[in-house]
Amino acid sequence: MISKKMQAMLSKGSAIRAMFEEGKRLSALYGAENVYDFSLGNPNTPTPEKVKEAIIEVLEGDSVSIHGYMLNAGYPEVRQAVAENINKRYGANLSYENVVMTVGAAGGLNVTLKVLLDEGDEVIIIAPYFGEYLRYIDNFGGKAVIVPPNPPTFLPNITAFENAITSRTKAVIINTPNNPTGVVYDDETLKAMAEVLERKEKEYGNAIYLISDEPYREIIFEDAVHCYIPHYYKNTIVGYSYSKSLSLPGERIGYLIIPSCLDSFADFIKASGDATRTLGFVNAPSLMQKVVALCLDEKTNVDFYAKNRHDIYTALTKMGYQCTKPQGAFYIWCKALEDDDKAFCERAKQFNILVVPGTSFGCKGWFRLAYCVSNQTIQNSLPAFQKLIDSYKN
Ligand code: PLP
Repeated sequence: MISKKMQAMLSKGSAIRAMFEEGKRLSALYGAENVYDFSLGNPNTPTPEKVKEAIIEVLEGDSVSIHGYMLNAGYPEVRQAVAENINKRYGANLSYENVVMTVGAAGGLNVTLKVLLDEGDEVIIIAPYFGEYLRYIDNFGGKAVIVPPNPPTFLPNITAFENAITSRTKAVIINTPNNPTGVVYDDETLKAMAEVLERKEKEYGNAIYLISDEPYREIIFEDAVHCYIPHYYKNTIVGYSYSKSLSLPGERIGYLIIPSCLDSFADFIKASGDATRTLGFVNAPSLMQKVVALCLDEKTNVDFYAKNRHDIYTALTKMGYQCTKPQGAFYIWCKALEDDDKAFCERAKQFNILVVPGTSFGCKGWFRLAYCVSNQTIQNSLPAFQKLIDSYKN
């Protein structure tokens, strides 16, 4: 018998994964070109050529050490290269000691929460949120406290954010550019959040850690700017990933930035190496650490996402869908055509459109569309979106 906790988790399932499975089933029935699967954030643009070259270059080196264990936090020279790149881009002052290589953003978040949480500690998340946060927090006995959604901007409402903080608040997770809304947190929002956090730290006499989950940092459009969050608030930990920025989701590589000014910095650093090991990751994949160190200035094809974003946003809004114009990431967040977003997504399936209900992100009445698909899929899907909206008019 599996554990009661896992039984409960399985019974809830993952709506996104379920949609993905459904996409495979419908493709077998109707042909892949007639199924418009916008369910999963799996990049559809190839990894840059330089990544392939770097893999070959690394593999042509010492074939014994490249596959070996190293320090749990990762190769010092890789961490130093990452630190210098962040210093160059954001005017930070990091060294290898501030960087822990991780098994993607998911690995980094789990390491961070393991380091921070005691049973019953509260972690604030802002709806709509990446649904996996609930599971990650639960992994370590934490309690998720949800700040309600704030349409139409979907930036956090600062009063609601402040009201969510209690003496048990250990951490806050933010995600910019955001999955599922595509919203990028601006300077004003970040200053306001930092001011609240500093005040609450003083009031309760505890550190409140801000965990900035940034797998979409490089996918940003027009005049939107990604702000370096540790410049705003000293107790910030940044989680990064190459899953989206280099189209490497299956390779499981990312890092944490842990600035030296963080409260309990020395313990945090020791504990994060320990957590990486005891969670069973042991270390981030060796080959990929070496590869990303050679590709720090490489970028995914942002133009590919920008074109998809333009085409889908323009077409859907013209048809009458109410959508948030994404500033980053590769999701578009739209209002469902009925209050029950799950029923709406079921109806969309009748037109071979797969999208994810807002309820999966803690926000009823909306849906998420992942436009990291081929542009052809977007073009093919438009008549189906038209039929879907028409079906609500009849
Ligand atoms: N955080 C957010 C907001 C995500 O959207 C994802 C993946 O989709 C992750 C974390 C996990 O990313 P990774 O593949 O780097 O573990």
